[in-house]
Amino acid sequence: MDTKYIFVTGGVVSSLGKGIISSSIACLLKARGFRVTIQKFDPYINIDPGTLNPYEHGECYVTEDGHEADLDLGHYERFTNVRTSRANNVTTGKIYQSVIEKERRGDYLGKTVQIIPHITDEIKHRIKFLGNTGNYDFIITEIGGTVGDIESLPFLEAVRQLRWELGNRSLCIHLTYVPFIAAAKELKTKPTQHSVKALQELGIQPDILVLRTEKDIPGDTLRKIALFCNVAPDSVVQSKDVSSIYKVPLCMHAQHLDEIVLRKTETQASAEPSMEPWLNFIHKIDTATDTVSIGLVGKYVELQDAYKSINEALFHAATYSSQKLNIVYIHSEKVSDNNVDELLSGLDGVIVAPGFGQRGIEGKFAALKWCREHDIPTFGICLGMQCMVIEFARNVLGLSEANSTEMAPRTPDNVIDLMEEQKSISHLGGTMRLGAFECVLREGSKAANAYKSTYIKERHRHRFEFNNAYREQYEQAGMACTGENPALHLVEVVEIPSKRWYIGTQYHPEYSSTVLSPSPIFASFIDAAIEFRNQKTK
Ligand code: GLN
Repeated sequence: MDTKYIFVTGGVVSSLGKGIISSSIACLLKARGFRVTIQKFDPYINIDPGTLNPYEHGECYVTEDGHEADLDLGHYERFTNVRTSRANNVTTGKIYQSVIEKERRGDYLGKTVQIIPHITDEIKHRIKFLGNTGNYDFIITEIGGTVGDIESLPFLEAVRQLRWELGNRSLCIHLTYVPFIAAAKELKTKPTQHSVKALQELGIQPDILVLRTEKDIPGDTLRKIALFCNVAPDSVVQSKDVSSIYKVPLCMHAQHLDEIVLRKTETQASAEPSMEPWLNFIHKIDTATDTVSIGLVGKYVELQDAYKSINEALFHAATYSSQKLNIVYIHSEKVSDNNVDELLSGLDGVIVAPGFGQRGIEGKFAALKWCREHDIPTFGICLGMQCMVIEFARNVLGLSEANSTEMAPRTPDNVIDLMEEQKSISHLGGTMRLGAFECVLREGSKAANAYKSTYIKERHRHRFEFNNAYREQYEQAGMACTGENPALHLVEVVEIPSKRWYIGTQYHPEYSSTVLSPSPIFASFIDAAIEFRNQKTK
């Protein structure tokens, strides 16, 4: 079948969940047997979000092929179980970069290079790139930002042109917000009407409207919106707040959104999507009674999007173990030897988060020392693993000034050090050790038992590494290096075998956890936390 293109735009306000709606549609189409991928086009000028502070756009996600991506790609993978790549995330920066490179090469043969057609052609080329591989029946393209933003104009112009070219092989879904005004006790449709008008002024008529709302929108209000916005009455659906984002595909299906998409794109399909494994997961969410409490020690805890993939990986693992998940966010800057007992006791397990730089690092050491001495199930991820290594050096190996050269370039004991290849790098963007790498796990280790395999591939995003000069000392003192990159001999996993569950991974296993294929190491961590809780309460 010819590839069909679905465009998802947003209006009224940002943060409406375009990523979740795109993912939900993809999830339903996939469950009907279609080959689907989702891509995000971000109007900002950064080449990728790799150089962005998490306070800007939340977590930076990493694809298997080593692209630092918008966190929505994490949702795409978690909902569809389909891997994304660098081709699934394009920014204005990337578009301009390639147009300017072409101009410098002389590809434009003396023409004046302009937003239309050169920038828009480049955007169209990127939108169709994955479609042209022949690997997909549906390409869902989420346009970042809100209709009306200056910076999204070239993207919307490209969508307008493509809709004209593709005809029924394309459709536009517009997501808006219907606020409830408490004083008037009324849901208000005007913002939606205005944002659809803004889209129409750009030459795009949405085919389907998805309305975010906190309250049920009555049928006559939906019909009124349809009438004012030139949209068929059956193509206006609501997306009411639900207790879990993973219920959104079911809410969309209940309103026939997937059928509407198929009908409008003239696609033949089976009567129903087969959602059994998904429904099983939802059933587990709804029937869990016990709670597992996990502390997350990090410096961005006031912004939950900063640890999106970790939150979701924990949630997948807890749900499959029939538990409700309680994440207790602990600000690493506020942890010290004096209050750590108060902050961490009561938790069933502790995660020490990834991160960069000095801020909050001493709190991570204090937390890890306490967890190690109290034998709490503890999971260190990336910087968290590096902190495990440093804390062990200081308090067990007796190397009191041990550190990472990231924090202390002149430390006498650089147990974590810059990789040789990183030493000459001057540009920060896209130059870390990025993407999926092989790792061989030691037979019989907790990590190998967790994965039920001694060979894995997980994704990385860091510059610093365990310093192999200290490996022997660690092994002898009881911290085992149980995961190694076979080609580069880099230490990827450390653990203390004598502890209940004390494991650090240089990689980020959270990036590969999906609803239908949860992360084995998160599952093992959660199971250790449940066991620990049960022992405590006995
Ligand atoms: N800052 C550390 C490094 O660059 C860890 C990075 C991370 O936690 N993602 O190696």
